Amino acid sequence: MTMVYFVGAGPGAPDLITLRGKRLLEAADLIIYAGSLVNPQLLDYARAGTAVLNSAEMTLDQVIDAMEAAVRAGRTVVRLHTGDPSIYGAIREQMDRLDRLAIPYEICPGVSSFSAVAAALKAEYTLPGVSQTVILSRAAGRTPVPAAESLTSLAAHRASLILFLSVGLLDRAAAELMAGGYAPATPAAIVYKASWPDEKILQCTLASLAKTGREAGISKTAIVCVGDFLGADYDLSRLYAPDFSTDYREATE
Ligand code: SAH
Repeated sequence: MTMVYFVGAGPGAPDLITLRGKRLLEAADLIIYAGSLVNPQLLDYARAGTAVLNSAEMTLDQVIDAMEAAVRAGRTVVRLHTGDPSIYGAIREQMDRLDRLAIPYEICPGVSSFSAVAAALKAEYTLPGVSQTVILSRAAGRTPVPAAESLTSLAAHRASLILFLSVGLLDRAAAELMAGGYAPATPAAIVYKASWPDEKILQCTLASLAKTGREAGISKTAIVCVGDFLGADYDLSRLYAPDFSTDYREATE
């Protein structure tokens, strides 16, 4: 019996998959890819004759059945998820089903879109004196969010906030974030399709976030960032300060 590899496809640009992920695509007999978000150009890494299924058109049962049939026939399966599979990838439910079927699997991590967004913005999420915490979350929509993680309560930290899957819910999200503790003037950004050729970056403030998204007509495949990490002020890092000794360098001042 062979196995199933859950592979992170990266944020979109075909050369932002890992070397391991590319090798797994090259070796796959069956690729089940998340067609709603994964760049189809990644399928060009597959050998001619590799079977390809688009999971956007399938249910969980259908995905598992396809994996099981292929693996029992001695084939190698790649389940290609956008970004990194650990974030909103719905891989846990697949792994639990594979465990019950005694089908082995491994995970190959990927570059998450929140990393590609920082790169597009030329930003650092963890600025000394500003925020040392990154919150990855989403606004509650058709998928609920546990009450203890409401945007209002997350806002109390005023950390660097990254919202996935939320660009269609900006009016309420911005209102909750302001009610929770972020000032209306807090810098914000919407990054659409980071690393794709049609990438778009919109800079605004929390107060103008919903209007900015609406006017740009962005309704999906975007990350919303909020926080003073997008502002001008921060402290220099201690690590590179001349008066700071480390295991690798003696202080010179
Ligand atoms: N596992 C993925 C996230 C899947 S959820 C990851 O690690 O990136 C899907 C959401 O991810 C989208 O609604 C959007 O919020 C975000 N997303 C995925 N690709 C993106 C990209 N290239 N640019 C901006 N946001 C992206």
